[in-house]
Amino acid sequence: MDSAGPENLLAIRTRIAAAQARFGPPPEQVELIAVSKTFDADAIEPFLAAGHRVFGENRVQEAKQKWPGLRARHAGVELHLIGPLQTNKVRDAVALFDVIQTLDRDKLAGALAAEMALAGRRLPCFVQVNIGLEPQKAGIAPADTLAFVDHCRKVHGLDIVGLMCLPPDGLPPGPYFAHLASLGRAAKLTQLSMGMSGDFETAIGMGATHVRVGSALFGGRPSPG
Ligand SMILES: *Cc1c(COP(=O)(O)O)cnc(C)c1O
Repeated sequence: MDSAGPENLLAIRTRIAAAQARFGPPPEQVELIAVSKTFDADAIEPFLAAGHRVFGENRVQEAKQKWPGLRARHAGVELHLIGPLQTNKVRDAVALFDVIQTLDRDKLAGALAAEMALAGRRLPCFVQVNIGLEPQKAGIAPADTLAFVDHCRKVHGLDIVGLMCLPPDGLPPGPYFAHLASLGRAAKLTQLSMGMSGDFETAIGMGATHVRVGSALFGGRPSPG
């Protein structure tokens, strides 16, 4: 797990396929989002060369430094924003990213809708749910999720495609993933972004369609982030 590099792609894809087979019903497509935060363009380049195209970053500023250059060299990149988005970074975010996974408040929904209209880019968005109701974590409370999804669609005209969560650290994540899946079903949303290096197989068992895997692909990060 400590080794880093594109050779890990095959191992992780194999584990994803095994989890899909083990937990079926009919395996849905599970998108592997390679979380490249904290790793520089030189570390990301081999993954692109190996054919991987779907990546996640958690900071707009960092993505702005790395991705325009990488995109110029590799066509077909799909970049997901998986970290908190301040409204003053919405312009850069809409220009840089292809999917916003961290829509977590009304003010941001309004700012995203306005900027997308201006830029002529209607990006798919996931609503981030604070599935463990943790004070230090972002996200809409589970009880408010359905109303918020509806509001984002009807009032702001956003393209809400799914739900995203980060379950509490140090607790078995299964029940939290199951809860997100049930909210997704209630909201008639087909996409669920859940599961990271340590728990993506559990998440797939609960219906994840997008797993966000960083350290199992790129190796350990120097500092939390
Ligand atoms: C860093 C991060 C990940 C990836 O975490 P790993 O444990 O390295 O796989 C996934 N999702 C979010 C929101 C993150 O910030």
